[in-house]
Amino acid sequence: MITIQGKGVSTGVAAGPLYFYQRAKGTFTRRQVEDREAEFARFKEAQTKAIEQLGELAEKARAEAGDEAAMLFETHQMMCEDLDYEEAIEGFIKEQGLNAEAAVTDAGAIQAEAFAAMDDEYFKARAADVKDISTRIVGILMGVVQGGIDSEVPVILASDDLAPSETVQLDKSKILGFVTSGGSGSSHTAILARTMGIPAIIGVGEQLKPEYQGREVIVDGGTGSVVLDADEETRARLMKKRAEILKRQELLNQLKGQPNVSKDGQEIRVYCNIGNPEDVHAVLENDGGGIGLFRSEFLYLNCDDYPTEDYQFEAYKRVLSDMGGKEVVIRTLDIGADKMIGYFNLPQEENPALGNRALRICLNRPEIFKTQLRALYRASAYGRLSIMFPMVTSVWEVREAKKMCELVKKELTAEGIPFSDEVDLGIMIETPAAAVISDRLAKEVDFFSIGTNDLTQYTLACDRQNNDLGRFFNAHHPAVLRLIKMACDNAHKEGIWCGICGELGADLELTELFLSIGLDELSVSPRSVLPLRQKVRETQVRVVREKLLGDLLSDKNEL
Ligand code: PEP
Ligand code: MG
Repeated sequence: MITIQGKGVSTGVAAGPLYFYQRAKGTFTRRQVEDREAEFARFKEAQTKAIEQLGELAEKARAEAGDEAAMLFETHQMMCEDLDYEEAIEGFIKEQGLNAEAAVTDAGAIQAEAFAAMDDEYFKARAADVKDISTRIVGILMGVVQGGIDSEVPVILASDDLAPSETVQLDKSKILGFVTSGGSGSSHTAILARTMGIPAIIGVGEQLKPEYQGREVIVDGGTGSVVLDADEETRARLMKKRAEILKRQELLNQLKGQPNVSKDGQEIRVYCNIGNPEDVHAVLENDGGGIGLFRSEFLYLNCDDYPTEDYQFEAYKRVLSDMGGKEVVIRTLDIGADKMIGYFNLPQEENPALGNRALRICLNRPEIFKTQLRALYRASAYGRLSIMFPMVTSVWEVREAKKMCELVKKELTAEGIPFSDEVDLGIMIETPAAAVISDRLAKEVDFFSIGTNDLTQYTLACDRQNNDLGRFFNAHHPAVLRLIKMACDNAHKEGIWCGICGELGADLELTELFLSIGLDELSVSPRSVLPLRQKVRETQVRVVREKLLGDLLSDKNEL
Protein backbone atom coordinates (compact mmCIF):
# COMPACT_ATOMS: atom_id res chain seq x y z
CA MET A 1 0.00 0.00 0.00
CA ILE A 2 1.32 3.48 -0.89
CA THR A 3 -0.20 6.66 0.53
CA ILE A 4 0.37 9.94 -1.29
CA GLN A 5 -0.57 13.18 0.37
CA GLY A 6 -1.85 16.17 -1.58
CA LYS A 7 -4.32 18.95 -1.01
CA GLY A 8 -8.01 18.11 -1.19
CA VAL A 9 -9.90 20.78 -3.15
CA SER A 10 -13.18 18.99 -3.74
CA THR A 11 -14.63 16.64 -1.15
CA GLY A 12 -15.81 13.07 -1.54
CA VAL A 13 -14.25 9.61 -1.62
CA ALA A 14 -13.82 7.60 -4.82
CA ALA A 15 -12.11 4.35 -5.79
CA GLY A 16 -11.00 3.06 -9.19
CA PRO A 17 -8.06 2.51 -11.52
CA LEU A 18 -5.60 5.37 -11.93
CA TYR A 19 -5.52 6.69 -15.46
CA PHE A 20 -3.14 9.29 -16.85
CA TYR A 21 -4.83 11.86 -19.06
CA GLN A 22 -3.84 11.57 -22.69
CA ARG A 23 -3.10 14.85 -24.37
CA ALA A 24 -3.59 15.37 -28.07
CA LYS A 25 -0.29 14.37 -29.57
CA GLY A 26 1.43 16.17 -32.38
CA THR A 27 4.57 18.24 -32.52
CA PHE A 28 5.07 21.10 -34.87
CA THR A 29 8.25 22.14 -36.60
CA ARG A 30 9.58 25.57 -35.86
CA ARG A 31 10.24 27.18 -39.22
CA GLN A 32 10.58 30.44 -41.12
CA VAL A 33 7.73 31.45 -43.41
CA GLU A 34 7.90 33.24 -46.74
CA ASP A 35 4.53 34.92 -46.78
CA ARG A 36 4.21 36.53 -43.38
CA GLU A 37 0.85 38.18 -44.10
CA ALA A 38 -0.67 34.83 -45.13
CA GLU A 39 0.77 33.18 -42.01
CA PHE A 40 -0.78 35.84 -39.80
CA ALA A 41 -4.10 35.33 -41.59
CA ARG A 42 -3.76 31.61 -40.82
CA PHE A 43 -3.36 32.50 -37.14
CA LYS A 44 -6.41 34.82 -37.27
CA GLU A 45 -8.50 32.00 -38.73
CA ALA A 46 -7.42 29.61 -35.97
CA GLN A 47 -8.10 32.31 -33.36
CA THR A 48 -11.67 32.75 -34.67
CA LYS A 49 -12.22 29.00 -34.58
CA ALA A 50 -10.87 28.82 -31.01
CA ILE A 51 -13.30 31.55 -29.95
CA GLU A 52 -16.16 29.62 -31.54
CA GLN A 53 -15.12 26.39 -29.79
CA LEU A 54 -14.91 28.22 -26.48
CA GLY A 55 -18.40 29.61 -27.00
CA GLU A 56 -19.69 26.07 -27.43
CA LEU A 57 -17.79 24.94 -24.35
CA ALA A 58 -19.28 27.82 -22.37
CA GLU A 59 -22.76 26.63 -23.28
CA LYS A 60 -21.90 23.04 -22.34
CA ALA A 61 -20.41 24.16 -19.03
CA ARG A 62 -23.44 26.38 -18.32
CA ALA A 63 -25.78 23.43 -18.82
CA GLU A 64 -23.65 21.08 -16.73
CA ALA A 65 -22.24 23.27 -13.99
CA GLY A 66 -23.87 26.69 -14.06
CA ASP A 67 -22.90 30.26 -14.86
CA GLU A 68 -19.64 30.33 -12.94
CA ALA A 69 -18.23 27.40 -14.87
CA ALA A 70 -19.35 28.98 -18.14
CA MET A 71 -17.65 32.22 -17.21
CA LEU A 72 -14.28 30.49 -17.38
CA PHE A 73 -14.68 29.82 -21.09
CA GLU A 74 -16.01 33.29 -21.69
CA THR A 75 -12.85 34.57 -19.99
CA HIS A 76 -10.80 32.32 -22.27
CA GLN A 77 -12.59 33.82 -25.25
CA MET A 78 -11.51 37.27 -24.09
CA MET A 79 -7.96 36.09 -23.45
CA CYS A 80 -7.79 34.74 -27.03
CA GLU A 81 -8.51 38.24 -28.26
CA ASP A 82 -6.30 40.01 -25.74
CA LEU A 83 -4.40 42.74 -27.56
CA ASP A 84 -1.03 42.16 -25.84
CA TYR A 85 -1.25 38.46 -26.61
CA GLU A 86 -2.22 39.03 -30.23
CA GLU A 87 0.42 41.73 -30.75
CA ALA A 88 3.12 39.42 -29.40
CA ILE A 89 2.02 36.72 -31.88
CA GLU A 90 1.89 39.25 -34.70
CA GLY A 91 5.41 40.38 -33.83
CA PHE A 92 6.79 36.83 -33.91
CA ILE A 93 5.16 36.19 -37.29
CA LYS A 94 5.54 39.51 -39.07
CA GLU A 95 8.84 40.71 -37.63
CA GLN A 96 10.67 37.43 -37.05
CA GLY A 97 9.02 35.38 -39.79
CA LEU A 98 8.09 32.53 -37.41
CA ASN A 99 5.36 30.06 -38.34
CA ALA A 100 2.04 30.56 -36.50
CA GLU A 101 2.38 27.43 -34.29
CA ALA A 102 5.74 28.60 -32.94
CA ALA A 103 4.57 32.21 -32.58
CA VAL A 104 1.49 31.22 -30.54
CA THR A 105 3.52 28.83 -28.37
CA ASP A 106 6.21 31.44 -27.64
CA ALA A 107 3.74 34.26 -26.95
CA GLY A 108 1.71 31.96 -24.68
CA ALA A 109 4.82 30.86 -22.78
CA ILE A 110 5.91 34.47 -22.17
CA GLN A 111 2.46 35.50 -20.88
CA ALA A 112 2.15 32.38 -18.73
CA GLU A 113 5.54 33.04 -17.19
CA ALA A 114 4.54 36.63 -16.40
CA PHE A 115 1.35 35.43 -14.68
CA ALA A 116 3.17 32.69 -12.77
CA ALA A 117 5.61 35.27 -11.36
CA MET A 118 2.84 37.38 -9.84
CA ASP A 119 2.24 37.36 -6.08
CA ASP A 120 -1.51 37.33 -6.34
CA GLU A 121 -2.84 33.75 -6.25
CA TYR A 122 -5.62 34.60 -8.67
CA PHE A 123 -3.24 35.88 -11.35
CA LYS A 124 -0.82 33.01 -10.72
CA ALA A 125 -3.61 30.60 -11.56
CA ARG A 126 -4.19 32.40 -14.88
CA ALA A 127 -0.88 30.98 -16.19
CA ALA A 128 -2.69 27.68 -16.81
CA ASP A 129 -5.40 29.53 -18.73
CA VAL A 130 -2.95 31.19 -21.15
CA LYS A 131 -1.23 27.87 -21.78
CA ASP A 132 -4.62 26.32 -22.33
CA ILE A 133 -5.73 28.78 -25.01
CA SER A 134 -2.35 28.60 -26.74
CA THR A 135 -2.54 24.79 -26.87
CA ARG A 136 -6.02 25.10 -28.30
CA ILE A 137 -4.97 27.51 -31.06
CA VAL A 138 -1.88 25.44 -31.90
CA GLY A 139 -4.07 22.32 -31.99
CA ILE A 140 -6.41 24.01 -34.46
CA LEU A 141 -3.47 25.15 -36.60
CA MET A 142 -2.19 21.58 -36.73
CA GLY A 143 -5.62 20.05 -37.24
CA VAL A 144 -5.35 17.73 -34.20
CA VAL A 145 -8.29 16.59 -32.13
CA GLN A 146 -8.39 17.08 -28.37
CA GLY A 147 -7.22 14.28 -26.10
CA GLY A 148 -9.25 12.50 -23.40
CA ILE A 149 -9.84 9.17 -21.74
CA ASP A 150 -9.58 6.01 -23.74
CA SER A 151 -10.96 3.62 -21.16
CA GLU A 152 -14.01 1.40 -21.01
CA VAL A 153 -14.36 1.69 -17.25
CA PRO A 154 -14.61 4.81 -15.05
CA VAL A 155 -11.24 5.99 -13.70
CA ILE A 156 -9.46 8.24 -11.24
CA LEU A 157 -7.96 10.72 -13.65
CA ALA A 158 -4.33 11.70 -13.12
CA SER A 159 -2.50 14.54 -14.81
CA ASP A 160 0.19 17.17 -14.26
CA ASP A 161 -2.16 20.15 -14.16
CA LEU A 162 -5.41 19.53 -15.93
CA ALA A 163 -6.41 22.54 -18.01
CA PRO A 164 -9.94 23.84 -17.40
CA SER A 165 -11.07 23.23 -20.97
CA GLU A 166 -9.75 19.68 -20.69
CA THR A 167 -11.79 19.19 -17.52
CA VAL A 168 -15.06 20.32 -19.03
CA GLN A 169 -14.64 18.37 -22.26
CA LEU A 170 -14.20 15.10 -20.40
CA ASP A 171 -16.83 12.44 -20.46
CA LYS A 172 -17.96 12.77 -16.82
CA SER A 173 -19.45 9.31 -16.74
CA LYS A 174 -15.87 8.02 -17.03
CA ILE A 175 -14.47 9.99 -14.09
CA LEU A 176 -14.59 9.06 -10.44
CA GLY A 177 -12.04 11.56 -9.17
CA PHE A 178 -9.09 13.79 -10.05
CA VAL A 179 -5.47 13.76 -8.91
CA THR A 180 -3.04 16.33 -10.25
CA SER A 181 0.65 16.74 -9.47
CA GLY A 182 0.41 20.56 -9.81
CA GLY A 183 -2.48 22.99 -9.65
CA SER A 184 -3.80 25.46 -7.12
CA GLY A 185 -6.90 25.50 -4.96
CA SER A 186 -8.14 28.68 -6.58
CA SER A 187 -7.62 27.49 -10.14
CA HIS A 188 -10.71 27.13 -12.24
CA THR A 189 -10.06 23.42 -12.50
CA ALA A 190 -10.53 23.11 -8.75
CA ILE A 191 -13.64 25.27 -8.94
CA LEU A 192 -15.03 23.16 -11.76
CA ALA A 193 -14.31 19.93 -9.90
CA ARG A 194 -16.16 21.25 -6.87
CA THR A 195 -19.08 22.49 -8.90
CA MET A 196 -19.34 19.15 -10.66
CA GLY A 197 -19.13 17.34 -7.36
CA ILE A 198 -16.11 15.23 -8.29
CA PRO A 199 -13.50 14.59 -5.55
CA ALA A 200 -10.22 16.28 -6.46
CA ILE A 201 -6.74 16.33 -5.00
CA ILE A 202 -4.05 18.65 -6.28
CA GLY A 203 -0.35 19.24 -5.66
CA VAL A 204 0.79 15.64 -5.10
CA GLY A 205 3.98 16.51 -6.98
CA GLU A 206 6.59 13.94 -7.90
CA GLN A 207 4.84 11.21 -5.95
CA LEU A 208 2.44 10.70 -8.86
CA LYS A 209 4.38 8.33 -11.12
CA PRO A 210 3.33 7.27 -14.64
CA GLU A 211 4.14 3.65 -13.77
CA TYR A 212 1.13 3.69 -11.42
CA GLN A 213 -1.11 3.71 -14.51
CA GLY A 214 -3.91 1.17 -14.06
CA ARG A 215 -3.24 0.56 -10.33
CA GLU A 216 -6.22 0.63 -7.99
CA VAL A 217 -6.46 3.89 -5.98
CA ILE A 218 -8.80 5.42 -3.43
CA VAL A 219 -8.90 9.22 -3.24
CA ASP A 220 -10.27 11.18 -0.31
CA GLY A 221 -10.92 14.79 -1.33
CA GLY A 222 -11.62 15.71 2.30
CA THR A 223 -8.20 14.74 3.64
CA GLY A 224 -6.25 15.01 0.37
CA SER A 225 -4.97 11.43 0.52
CA VAL A 226 -4.46 9.10 -2.44
CA VAL A 227 -4.06 5.47 -1.46
CA LEU A 228 -2.64 2.96 -3.96
CA ASP A 229 -3.41 -0.73 -3.47
CA ALA A 230 -5.10 -0.11 -0.12
CA ASP A 231 -4.98 -2.88 2.49
CA GLU A 232 -8.26 -4.42 3.63
CA GLU A 233 -8.68 -2.25 6.69
CA THR A 234 -7.98 1.05 4.90
CA ARG A 235 -10.25 0.10 2.04
CA ALA A 236 -13.10 -0.81 4.38
CA ARG A 237 -12.69 2.45 6.33
CA LEU A 238 -12.64 4.65 3.22
CA MET A 239 -15.51 2.81 1.56
CA LYS A 240 -17.60 3.27 4.68
CA LYS A 241 -16.83 6.98 4.63
CA ARG A 242 -17.76 7.10 0.95
CA ALA A 243 -21.10 5.43 1.53
CA GLU A 244 -21.93 7.83 4.35
CA ILE A 245 -21.03 10.92 2.32
CA LEU A 246 -23.00 9.75 -0.69
CA LYS A 247 -26.05 8.91 1.33
CA ARG A 248 -26.04 12.24 3.08
CA GLN A 249 -25.41 14.19 -0.10
CA GLU A 250 -28.12 12.39 -1.99
CA LEU A 251 -30.59 13.04 0.75
CA LEU A 252 -29.70 16.68 1.07
CA ASN A 253 -29.49 17.36 -2.66
CA GLN A 254 -33.04 16.19 -3.03
CA LEU A 255 -33.99 19.12 -0.85
CA LYS A 256 -32.63 21.74 -3.25
CA GLY A 257 -35.48 23.75 -4.69
CA GLN A 258 -37.81 22.52 -1.95
CA PRO A 259 -39.52 24.98 0.41
CA ASN A 260 -38.54 25.29 4.07
CA VAL A 261 -41.95 24.27 5.26
CA SER A 262 -42.92 22.18 8.27
CA LYS A 263 -45.12 19.10 7.99
CA ASP A 264 -48.10 21.19 9.01
CA GLY A 265 -47.38 23.99 6.58
CA GLN A 266 -45.44 26.60 8.56
CA GLU A 267 -42.84 28.28 6.40
CA ILE A 268 -39.57 29.86 7.48
CA ARG A 269 -36.98 31.61 5.31
CA VAL A 270 -33.50 30.09 5.41
CA TYR A 271 -30.87 32.65 4.44
CA CYS A 272 -27.07 32.63 4.64
CA ASN A 273 -24.33 34.46 6.51
CA ILE A 274 -21.36 35.58 4.42
CA GLY A 275 -18.13 37.49 5.01
CA ASN A 276 -17.07 38.42 1.48
CA PRO A 277 -18.50 38.60 -2.06
CA GLU A 278 -16.92 35.27 -3.09
CA ASP A 279 -19.12 33.45 -0.58
CA VAL A 280 -22.18 34.07 -2.76
CA HIS A 281 -21.18 31.01 -4.77
CA ALA A 282 -21.67 28.79 -1.71
CA VAL A 283 -25.01 30.48 -0.96
CA LEU A 284 -26.36 29.67 -4.41
CA GLU A 285 -24.80 26.22 -4.43
CA ASN A 286 -26.60 25.37 -1.19
CA ASP A 287 -29.87 26.95 -2.31
CA GLY A 288 -29.87 29.73 0.30
CA GLY A 289 -33.01 31.86 -0.03
CA GLY A 290 -31.08 35.11 0.43
CA ILE A 291 -28.33 36.61 2.53
CA GLY A 292 -29.40 37.37 6.08
CA LEU A 293 -26.06 38.73 7.24
CA PHE A 294 -23.18 40.07 5.19
CA ARG A 295 -20.55 40.99 7.78
CA SER A 296 -19.28 44.07 5.95
CA GLU A 297 -16.42 44.58 8.40
CA PHE A 298 -14.49 41.87 6.53
CA LEU A 299 -14.05 44.35 3.69
CA TYR A 300 -12.41 46.70 6.17
CA LEU A 301 -10.35 43.92 7.74
CA ASN A 302 -8.93 43.01 4.32
CA CYS A 303 -7.68 46.56 3.67
CA ASP A 304 -4.66 48.45 4.98
CA ASP A 305 -6.57 51.70 5.07
CA TYR A 306 -10.20 52.82 5.09
CA PRO A 307 -11.87 51.26 2.04
CA THR A 308 -13.10 53.94 -0.33
CA GLU A 309 -16.73 54.45 -1.28
CA ASP A 310 -16.06 53.09 -4.78
CA TYR A 311 -14.29 50.00 -3.48
CA GLN A 312 -17.18 49.22 -1.16
CA PHE A 313 -19.75 50.02 -3.82
CA GLU A 314 -18.18 47.46 -6.19
CA ALA A 315 -18.20 44.76 -3.50
CA TYR A 316 -21.83 45.37 -2.46
CA LYS A 317 -22.94 45.67 -6.06
CA ARG A 318 -21.32 42.33 -6.89
CA VAL A 319 -23.12 40.56 -4.06
CA LEU A 320 -26.46 42.12 -4.95
CA SER A 321 -26.14 41.38 -8.67
CA ASP A 322 -24.89 37.83 -8.09
CA MET A 323 -27.87 37.16 -5.81
CA GLY A 324 -30.16 38.07 -8.70
CA GLY A 325 -32.92 39.92 -6.87
CA LYS A 326 -32.95 37.76 -3.72
CA GLU A 327 -32.85 39.73 -0.49
CA VAL A 328 -29.39 40.69 0.80
CA VAL A 329 -29.06 42.07 4.33
CA ILE A 330 -25.80 43.97 4.69
CA ARG A 331 -24.78 44.85 8.20
CA THR A 332 -22.97 48.13 8.65
CA LEU A 333 -19.48 48.11 10.08
CA ASP A 334 -19.23 46.00 13.24
CA ILE A 335 -15.68 46.42 14.53
CA GLY A 336 -14.27 46.76 18.00
CA ALA A 337 -14.16 44.07 20.70
CA ASP A 338 -13.04 40.85 18.94
CA LYS A 339 -12.55 42.54 15.53
CA MET A 340 -9.89 45.22 15.85
CA ILE A 341 -8.51 47.14 12.85
CA GLY A 342 -5.16 48.95 13.20
CA TYR A 343 -5.88 51.96 11.00
CA PHE A 344 -8.95 52.89 13.04
CA ASN A 345 -6.54 53.77 15.87
CA LEU A 346 -9.05 52.84 18.51
CA PRO A 347 -7.85 53.47 22.04
CA GLN A 348 -7.10 50.51 24.31
CA GLU A 349 -10.08 49.73 26.52
CA GLU A 350 -10.43 47.86 29.78
CA ASN A 351 -13.60 46.11 28.53
CA PRO A 352 -13.63 46.29 24.73
CA ALA A 353 -16.80 44.17 24.41
CA LEU A 354 -18.57 46.88 26.40
CA GLY A 355 -16.74 49.69 24.69
CA ASN A 356 -16.54 51.65 21.52
CA ARG A 357 -17.73 49.20 18.91
CA ALA A 358 -20.04 48.74 15.93
CA LEU A 359 -22.80 51.38 15.63
CA ARG A 360 -21.16 53.38 18.42
CA ILE A 361 -18.07 53.94 16.26
CA CYS A 362 -20.27 54.81 13.28
CA LEU A 363 -22.21 57.40 15.25
CA ASN A 364 -19.03 58.85 16.75
CA ARG A 365 -17.25 59.01 13.40
CA PRO A 366 -19.95 60.01 10.91
CA GLU A 367 -17.55 60.36 7.97
CA ILE A 368 -16.84 56.62 8.08
CA PHE A 369 -20.54 55.79 8.46
CA LYS A 370 -21.54 58.10 5.63
CA THR A 371 -19.00 56.61 3.20
CA GLN A 372 -20.37 53.15 3.85
CA LEU A 373 -24.00 54.22 3.57
CA ARG A 374 -23.33 56.03 0.28
CA ALA A 375 -21.72 52.88 -1.12
CA LEU A 376 -24.66 50.80 0.12
CA TYR A 377 -27.35 53.04 -1.33
CA ARG A 378 -25.53 53.29 -4.65
CA ALA A 379 -25.35 49.48 -4.77
CA SER A 380 -29.06 49.21 -3.93
CA ALA A 381 -29.85 49.96 -7.58
CA TYR A 382 -28.50 46.48 -8.45
CA GLY A 383 -30.62 44.17 -6.32
CA ARG A 384 -32.76 43.86 -3.22
CA LEU A 385 -30.83 45.46 -0.40
CA SER A 386 -31.65 45.71 3.30
CA ILE A 387 -29.36 47.54 5.70
CA MET A 388 -28.89 46.41 9.28
CA PHE A 389 -27.30 48.20 12.24
CA PRO A 390 -25.38 46.19 14.88
CA MET A 391 -25.08 46.62 18.67
CA VAL A 392 -28.15 48.75 19.22
CA THR A 393 -29.15 49.53 22.80
CA SER A 394 -31.39 52.61 22.48
CA VAL A 395 -34.05 54.16 20.30
CA TRP A 396 -32.04 57.36 19.79
CA GLU A 397 -29.16 55.42 18.19
CA VAL A 398 -31.53 53.99 15.61
CA ARG A 399 -33.01 57.41 14.92
CA GLU A 400 -29.55 58.91 14.38
CA ALA A 401 -28.61 56.07 12.04
CA LYS A 402 -31.83 56.59 10.08
CA LYS A 403 -31.13 60.31 9.88
CA MET A 404 -27.77 59.56 8.31
CA CYS A 405 -29.53 57.34 5.76
CA GLU A 406 -31.88 60.20 4.89
CA LEU A 407 -28.95 62.58 4.49
CA VAL A 408 -27.16 60.16 2.19
CA LYS A 409 -30.29 59.65 0.06
CA LYS A 410 -30.73 63.42 -0.22
CA GLU A 411 -27.13 63.84 -1.34
CA LEU A 412 -27.35 61.06 -3.91
CA THR A 413 -30.58 62.53 -5.27
CA ALA A 414 -28.94 65.95 -5.59
CA GLU A 415 -26.00 64.34 -7.40
CA GLY A 416 -28.33 62.45 -9.74
CA ILE A 417 -26.98 59.07 -8.58
CA PRO A 418 -29.58 56.30 -8.77
CA PHE A 419 -30.56 54.19 -5.77
CA SER A 420 -33.51 52.05 -4.78
CA ASP A 421 -36.20 53.64 -2.63
CA GLU A 422 -37.19 50.22 -1.31
CA VAL A 423 -34.24 49.61 0.96
CA ASP A 424 -35.45 48.16 4.28
CA LEU A 425 -33.72 49.20 7.49
CA GLY A 426 -33.34 46.78 10.37
CA ILE A 427 -31.41 46.28 13.55
CA MET A 428 -29.64 43.46 15.27
CA ILE A 429 -31.06 42.43 18.59
CA GLU A 430 -27.87 41.43 20.34
CA THR A 431 -27.98 43.30 23.63
CA PRO A 432 -30.43 42.53 26.42
CA ALA A 433 -31.40 46.22 26.31
CA ALA A 434 -32.52 45.94 22.70
CA ALA A 435 -34.54 42.80 23.43
CA VAL A 436 -36.21 44.38 26.47
CA ILE A 437 -37.21 47.54 24.58
CA SER A 438 -37.95 45.66 21.37
CA ASP A 439 -41.57 46.89 21.58
CA ARG A 440 -40.26 50.43 21.12
CA LEU A 441 -37.56 49.56 18.61
CA ALA A 442 -40.04 47.66 16.44
CA LYS A 443 -41.80 50.97 15.71
CA GLU A 444 -38.57 52.35 14.22
CA VAL A 445 -37.47 49.70 11.72
CA ASP A 446 -38.54 47.18 9.10
CA PHE A 447 -37.04 44.07 10.69
CA PHE A 448 -35.09 42.52 13.56
CA SER A 449 -32.29 40.00 13.27
CA ILE A 450 -31.20 38.43 16.53
CA GLY A 451 -27.44 38.14 17.04
CA THR A 452 -27.41 35.25 19.47
CA ASN A 453 -23.61 35.20 19.77
CA ASP A 454 -23.51 38.60 21.41
CA LEU A 455 -26.96 38.29 22.96
CA THR A 456 -25.70 35.23 24.87
CA GLN A 457 -22.49 36.97 25.86
CA TYR A 458 -24.23 40.06 27.19
CA THR A 459 -27.20 38.31 28.77
CA LEU A 460 -25.08 35.80 30.65
CA ALA A 461 -22.21 38.28 31.25
CA CYS A 462 -19.99 35.65 29.70
CA ASP A 463 -17.13 36.52 27.32
CA ARG A 464 -17.72 34.72 23.99
CA GLN A 465 -13.97 34.76 23.33
CA ASN A 466 -13.01 32.98 26.53
CA ASN A 467 -12.88 29.23 25.92
CA ASP A 468 -12.36 28.54 29.61
CA LEU A 469 -15.90 29.64 30.36
CA GLY A 470 -17.19 26.51 28.59
CA ARG A 471 -20.39 25.42 30.32
CA PHE A 472 -21.17 28.93 31.53
CA PHE A 473 -21.60 30.14 27.96
CA ASN A 474 -24.90 28.40 27.33
CA ALA A 475 -26.88 29.77 24.42
CA HIS A 476 -29.74 27.43 25.38
CA HIS A 477 -30.13 29.30 28.67
CA PRO A 478 -33.82 30.19 29.15
CA ALA A 479 -32.86 33.85 29.64
CA VAL A 480 -31.50 33.95 26.09
CA LEU A 481 -34.42 31.97 24.65
CA ARG A 482 -37.00 34.11 26.42
CA LEU A 483 -35.38 37.27 25.04
CA ILE A 484 -35.58 35.76 21.56
CA LYS A 485 -39.30 35.12 22.04
CA MET A 486 -39.82 38.59 23.47
CA ALA A 487 -38.16 40.27 20.47
CA CYS A 488 -40.06 38.10 17.99
CA ASP A 489 -43.44 38.76 19.65
CA ASN A 490 -42.79 42.50 19.73
CA ALA A 491 -41.72 42.50 16.09
CA HIS A 492 -44.92 40.76 15.08
CA LYS A 493 -47.07 43.16 17.10
CA GLU A 494 -45.70 45.95 14.91
CA GLY A 495 -46.03 43.87 11.73
CA ILE A 496 -42.30 43.51 11.04
CA TRP A 497 -40.31 40.31 10.56
CA CYS A 498 -37.84 38.80 12.99
CA GLY A 499 -35.00 36.36 12.29
CA ILE A 500 -31.85 34.98 13.87
CA CYS A 501 -28.41 35.45 12.33
CA GLY A 502 -26.27 34.23 15.24
CA GLU A 503 -24.85 30.70 15.34
CA LEU A 504 -27.86 29.45 17.26
CA GLY A 505 -29.97 29.70 14.10
CA ALA A 506 -28.30 26.54 12.77
CA ASP A 507 -28.67 24.60 16.02
CA LEU A 508 -30.97 21.78 15.01
CA GLU A 509 -31.85 21.06 18.63
CA LEU A 510 -33.69 24.38 18.69
CA THR A 511 -35.34 24.41 15.26
CA GLU A 512 -38.64 23.17 16.68
CA LEU A 513 -38.61 25.88 19.31
CA PHE A 514 -37.79 28.59 16.76
CA LEU A 515 -40.68 27.45 14.59
CA SER A 516 -42.93 27.42 17.66
CA ILE A 517 -41.88 30.95 18.56
CA GLY A 518 -42.78 31.93 15.00
CA LEU A 519 -39.46 33.28 13.80
CA ASP A 520 -39.65 34.34 10.16
CA GLU A 521 -36.08 33.72 9.11
CA LEU A 522 -32.92 31.86 10.13
CA SER A 523 -29.62 32.96 8.61
CA VAL A 524 -26.92 30.31 8.77
CA SER A 525 -23.66 29.31 7.08
CA PRO A 526 -24.29 28.07 3.51
CA ARG A 527 -23.45 24.48 4.46
CA SER A 528 -26.16 24.49 7.11
CA VAL A 529 -29.00 25.41 4.74
CA LEU A 530 -29.96 21.92 3.62
CA PRO A 531 -29.62 20.17 7.00
CA LEU A 532 -31.79 22.93 8.47
CA ARG A 533 -34.33 22.59 5.68
CA GLN A 534 -34.46 18.89 6.40
CA LYS A 535 -35.14 19.54 10.08
CA VAL A 536 -37.88 22.08 9.33
CA ARG A 537 -39.57 19.66 6.96
CA GLU A 538 -39.61 16.94 9.61
CA THR A 539 -41.27 19.13 12.24
CA GLN A 540 -44.97 19.19 13.16
CA VAL A 541 -45.12 22.62 14.77
CA ARG A 542 -48.65 22.25 16.12
CA VAL A 543 -47.68 19.11 17.97
CA VAL A 544 -44.64 20.56 19.73
CA ARG A 545 -45.51 24.24 20.11
CA GLU A 546 -47.55 24.19 23.29
CA LYS A 547 -45.11 22.02 25.20
CA LEU A 548 -41.97 23.86 24.04
CA LEU A 549 -43.36 27.32 24.76
CA GLY A 550 -44.78 26.10 28.06
CA ASP A 551 -41.39 24.71 29.08
CA LEU A 552 -39.71 27.95 28.09
CA LEU A 553 -41.90 29.99 30.39
CA SER A 554 -42.25 27.47 33.23
CA ASP A 555 -39.75 26.88 36.00
CA LYS A 556 -39.21 23.28 34.90
CA ASN A 557 -35.94 24.15 33.20
CA GLU A 558 -32.83 23.69 35.17
CA LEU A 559 -31.25 27.12 35.38
C1 PEP B 1 -24.04 37.80 16.72
O1 PEP B 1 -23.55 38.50 17.60
O2 PEP B 1 -24.78 36.84 16.94
C2 PEP B 1 -23.72 38.07 15.30
C3 PEP B 1 -24.36 37.46 14.35
O3 PEP B 1 -22.75 38.96 15.03
P1 PEP B 1 -21.18 38.67 15.19
O4 PEP B 1 -21.02 37.21 15.49
O5 PEP B 1 -20.56 39.11 13.93
O6 PEP B 1 -20.85 39.53 16.36
MG1 MG C 1 -22.65 40.42 17.12
